[in-house]
Amino acid sequence: MKQKILIQNGRVFMPSTDLVTEVFIEDGKITAIGPDLLKSCTPDETIDAHGLYVLPGGIDAHTHMELPFMGTYSSDDFESGTLAGLYGGTTSIIDFAIQTKGESLTSCVNQWHEKARSKAVADYAFHVAVTDYNEKVGQEIPEIIQAGVPSFKAFMAYKGSLMIDDKGLSSLLETAARHGGLVSVHAENGDVIDALVAQFKAEGKMAPQYHALAHPASAEEEAAGRAMDLALAAGAELYIVHTTCRGVLELAAAKSRRGQRIFVETCPQYLLLDDSCYLEPDFGGAKYVMSPPIRKKEDQEALWQGIESGLVQVVGTDHCPFNMVGQKDRGRDDFSKIPNGAPGIENRLEVCFSEGVKKNRISMRRFVEVMCSNPAEIFGLSQKGAIRMGADADLVLFDPEEKHTLSVKTHHQHVDYNTYEGLEVTGRVKTVISNGAVAIRDGRADQIEKGRGRFISRQSRRTSCQE
Ligand SMILES: [Zn+2]
Repeated sequence: MKQKILIQNGRVFMPSTDLVTEVFIEDGKITAIGPDLLKSCTPDETIDAHGLYVLPGGIDAHTHMELPFMGTYSSDDFESGTLAGLYGGTTSIIDFAIQTKGESLTSCVNQWHEKARSKAVADYAFHVAVTDYNEKVGQEIPEIIQAGVPSFKAFMAYKGSLMIDDKGLSSLLETAARHGGLVSVHAENGDVIDALVAQFKAEGKMAPQYHALAHPASAEEEAAGRAMDLALAAGAELYIVHTTCRGVLELAAAKSRRGQRIFVETCPQYLLLDDSCYLEPDFGGAKYVMSPPIRKKEDQEALWQGIESGLVQVVGTDHCPFNMVGQKDRGRDDFSKIPNGAPGIENRLEVCFSEGVKKNRISMRRFVEVMCSNPAEIFGLSQKGAIRMGADADLVLFDPEEKHTLSVKTHHQHVDYNTYEGLEVTGRVKTVISNGAVAIRDGRADQIEKGRGRFISRQSRRTSCQE
């Protein structure tokens, strides 16, 4: 339901400034920002945001809803996943449509439309992951971009299922760049990982911690560096998803200094956790089995510094939940059978605010950039990510002082554990407005109609640059 809502007394975070002022929204758009709006506006409802921050709706550029993977499906579908996102202040997601071998990209994207259309309760866009590159697939790229999906992904690991080789990656980079598309990479050396997995298994080392040891930082650095070089050769920009370690940041900084355009994403789990998590007893380490794995404490510090310096532009979640019971436990006797992935969409804003802003690791300005405005700019969500006149009315009212404890008992993610169980955070998402309507009010779902989320069709980077 579209409404006329006036938000008063909140500290409003706009692109170049933040101040206590008013925001008026009408027909799903922000139509006025400034003081004393009651003189000119006639709201149906007034919300008092005294003591609260008014932030742009969060954008999670990295999710996997209902993903078929490792013989099962990620446990959040587009309904439960986008709802959990709303509870956590995320009003838009970009989910990865993943091509199966022999499938056309059009068929792949259509399949993701089917999954999302009648379910999503917040707005969504797609990237398409190309796992089987050939000439015919290359010819589809301009059509896919035209269809509103101008971003692609390549896996440099998961050989035999998702990985494409350097020839395929080079062609994808070159073709996408020519048509105004952006390619992201999962940067890990698949061959190095496969050899280590085989070695540990041969030695009878089957516990979750060996997943981490089989995915060393050096394999991530090698692949990231190779992707950067291939992108340079192809004349393409590059986006590196879920970066975990100092080495990749150093490479990206060096290449950026030489003028190459590289976008770096990290995720909250890499900022908050360290590899001691894999030693959690009773198979608990399986909760954190994801690729790349959780790294060292020193890597966390490098990632926070990377955000503050502007080198890391996006914090996405890689939300890809699997239940401990019935899914993760398939790998109880063999770490290589533990489905890779963890939940996180609901906690992104709160954990990064609490551990980042409140602990003075990053500024509030950087926080808004990596959560909202940078993913919107990089991926062409032109109506999202900033509080400005005419933008979509996606807003988060955030209490910067309220303390609460994260737990599976209170979260809304459809999964039987929370990655940050027991963590006390300062800062809480209170009220969330999505497309001009109150979706979450004081922490409770308000007007959530299944399928209310809309597909966000995006333009190619070339088109948006010409504007
Ligand atoms: Zn992912």
